[in-house]
Amino acid sequence: MSRPRLMIPGPIEFTDEVMAQMARPTPSHVDPSFIEVFGQALEDLRKVFLAGPDYQPFILAGSGTLAMDSAVANLVEPDDRVLVVDTGYFSQRMADIVRRYGGEVTLLSAPPGETITPDQLRDALAQADYDLVTITHVDTSTGVLTDVRGMTAVAKGAGALVIVDGVCAAGAEELRQEDWGVDVYLTASQKAIGVPPGLALLVASPGAMAKWLGRATPVGSYYSDWNHWLPIMEAYEARKASYFGTPAVNLIMALGVSLRQILDEGLENVFVRHKRLSDAVKAGIAALGLSQVPTDHAHAAHTLTCPRYPEGVDARLLKFVREEGAILAGGLHPAIKTEYFRIGHMGAVSRSDVLTVLGAVEAGLRRAGYAVEPGIALAAAQAELA
Ligand code: PMP
Repeated sequence: MSRPRLMIPGPIEFTDEVMAQMARPTPSHVDPSFIEVFGQALEDLRKVFLAGPDYQPFILAGSGTLAMDSAVANLVEPDDRVLVVDTGYFSQRMADIVRRYGGEVTLLSAPPGETITPDQLRDALAQADYDLVTITHVDTSTGVLTDVRGMTAVAKGAGALVIVDGVCAAGAEELRQEDWGVDVYLTASQKAIGVPPGLALLVASPGAMAKWLGRATPVGSYYSDWNHWLPIMEAYEARKASYFGTPAVNLIMALGVSLRQILDEGLENVFVRHKRLSDAVKAGIAALGLSQVPTDHAHAAHTLTCPRYPEGVDARLLKFVREEGAILAGGLHPAIKTEYFRIGHMGAVSRSDVLTVLGAVEAGLRRAGYAVEPGIALAAAQAELA
C-alpha cells in the first residue's frame, strides 16, 4: 500500500536522487570527492539566492533556528537597535534571538493573517534610527508572504542592514538577494530547498560581512561565530581541506543534488511552478467553502496554504485526511491555533500532489460531517491549472 504524502510545511517529500545521497557510504569530510561537492554546493547556494560572487555563503550543521542564531549572533552587538517586522510565530522567535544577544528590539507587528507594507515600514523607520531590520519572507504560522523587495528597499534607504528569514520561502518564492539588497538571507534544508532536516544555510552580503568585521565586541556564541566558519567556507570553495566542526557530510551531498535540480529546472520556472500549484490549491480550498488565514490572496504565500476549519469541524479532520492519503499540519500561531490547518506545497511538488491533497481534504471533510459535493475542489484546481 502506498504511504500518505507528507504535505506539511516542512519537512517535505524529497526526490529519490536526493534520498539516494543519504544512503551512500559517508566519505571523509576531507576526501577530495567531498571537497568538490561542498565547494560546488557553496557556489550553487549563491546562485539559488541570486547573489553575486562577493556574497559569502555558509552551510552549517543545524536547523533553521541555527541559521537565525548565526545571522543575529554575528551581526547584532549589544545595544544595537533592531526593528523586527512581526508577521507571526517565527518573527517573534527572531525577536527573542536578538534580545538574547543584547539587541534592543522594536516590534512592528501585523495581526495574524496580515503583513506589513513598505509604507508602514517607512513610517516606523521615520520614528527612530535602526541598525538592522529583520523580515520573515513567509511566516509559516500564518501563510503570510511579505514583500521582501519593497521592504528591503525602504530599510536600506534608511541605512539599516536587512536580515530575511527565508526558511519557508527559499527555493520557491521569488528571491533576488543581490538585486533586492538583502544583507543576510537564511534558510534551512528541509523545506523548498529539498533536503532532509539538518542544514542551516545563509548567504551574507559584503555589507553584512563588513558589519561583522567591524564589531567592537566578540560574538556571544561559540558555535555560530563566523570567525570559526568563514575560513572553512573559503577553504572548501577553494577546493581545499579544512576543519572546524565535522560537516554533515551526507546532508551536504544531498544538498549538492537538490541545488542542482533547482538550477536545472531554472529559478524562474521554479517560481512560476510554485505560484501555479499554490493558486490551484487555494482555488480548491475556496471551492470547498473554506476561508484562509491570510486576509488577502495578494499576500498569501506560495509554499503553503492555511485553510480555516469550517463550522463544526476541528483538528480531528487531519486524522481523516491522513487516512485519505495526505499528512497535513495543524495550526501554529498561538492566537488562532485551533482555528486552522496547514498544507505544505513546496520543493519537488507536482500537480498530482495538488490533486492528491485536495482529494484527501475533500474526503476527510465528508468524514468529519461537512457536506461537500464530490470532486468540487479537484474541478476548481484543474480549472486553475488548465
Ligand atoms: N523560520 C521559519 C519561517 C520557519 O518556518 C521555521 C521552521 N518551521 C524556522 C524559522 C525554524 O526552523 P527549524 O525548525 O529548522 O529550526
